[in-house]
Amino acid sequence: MTTLMTCLKERQIPFTQFEPMSRHTTFRTGGEARLFVMPKSEQALAQALRLCAQCGEKPFILGNGSNLLVPDEGLDRVVINIGDGLDTVKLLDHTTIEAGAGATLAKVCKYALDESLAGLAFAYGIPGTVGGAVYMNAGAYGGEMKQVVSCVRYLDRNGCPGELSGEDLAFSYRSSAFQSMDVVITSVVMQLQKGDPTVIEAEMRDLLGRRKDKQPLEYPSAGSVFKRPEGHFAGALIEQCGLKGKTIGGAQVSEKHAGFIINIGNATTKDVTDLIAYCQKTVLEQCGVLLEPEIKCI
Ligand SMILES: Cc1cc2nc3c(=O)[nH]c(=O)nc-3n(C[C@H](O)[C@H](O)[C@H](O)COP(=O)(O)OP(=O)(O)OC[C@H]3O[C@@H](n4cnc5c(N)ncnc54)[C@H](O)[C@@H]3O)c2cc1C
Repeated sequence: MTTLMTCLKERQIPFTQFEPMSRHTTFRTGGEARLFVMPKSEQALAQALRLCAQCGEKPFILGNGSNLLVPDEGLDRVVINIGDGLDTVKLLDHTTIEAGAGATLAKVCKYALDESLAGLAFAYGIPGTVGGAVYMNAGAYGGEMKQVVSCVRYLDRNGCPGELSGEDLAFSYRSSAFQSMDVVITSVVMQLQKGDPTVIEAEMRDLLGRRKDKQPLEYPSAGSVFKRPEGHFAGALIEQCGLKGKTIGGAQVSEKHAGFIINIGNATTKDVTDLIAYCQKTVLEQCGVLLEPEIKCI
């Protein structure tokens, strides 16, 4: 670890020790990461990956932490945060944009709007990075990343570049090829269409309004906890079982949207995972449906 820190320092790659992960997850839970690395360029990311591989470390890759549960006892490993420095958005041709994996979806959606490009409005309001959104095939209101992503560039664990496109991206409901690959997404190419900016902006505003009306955005959470079970809605099943408002410690099934678990104050990750398990057990017993978590528990 000392060697790794010395090498990171020599290459001026910023890092901190014992970083509280509650600062980096939208649930605001999770213990400390042993080493938290913040590369500010793709080159620095490649160097950090190479150094980790040489030191026998397998870093966890963090985007905006908006779909994550980190254990309360922390992470005895390196975390690499893909954020600013890897967040450039640029136009490749008049309908194609490329975004760094650390760019937020909000930034990319606003960029597309400024270029009068339609097709991404569905993603406005999803609080993740582009890298996290591709990894998860994030989607909402009938849209998903699958519909717009044409090519994804990545680095492997030794910092060597590669790319995937088309069928190889293996997008399916909240899943992509990257969930079974050991790589770090660095940038994403998206194919959009020319549109009327007034119409695009109205759609973005409408979808954001619908989120504010239906979702408990005033509390920390990780969005919908469970995947949509075939033929059902997770929130409706949880509500049907009388679990709205069910509280364990500081974690609560939202009164506003039963598909969300919220942190109502000082929740621990254990509170959240216990409540997830309680919802799963109750819904299975009463409705015969097994709810599968959408959020990633490290
Ligand atoms: C209020 C709220 C509303 C939400 N609404 C929606 C919604 O409507 N639709 C939806 O699909 N999701 C929604 N989410 C969940 C979440 O925002 C998405 O899953 C998002 O895509 C996660 O991106 P992230 O950058 O935060 O990823 P993280 O949470 O940081 O990571 C998620 C996973 O992706 C991996 N990962 C992240 N970046 C990279 C990278 N560059 N390379 C390789 N792997 C990477 C991580 O290792 C982890 O396994 C919501 C969350 C919240 C809090």
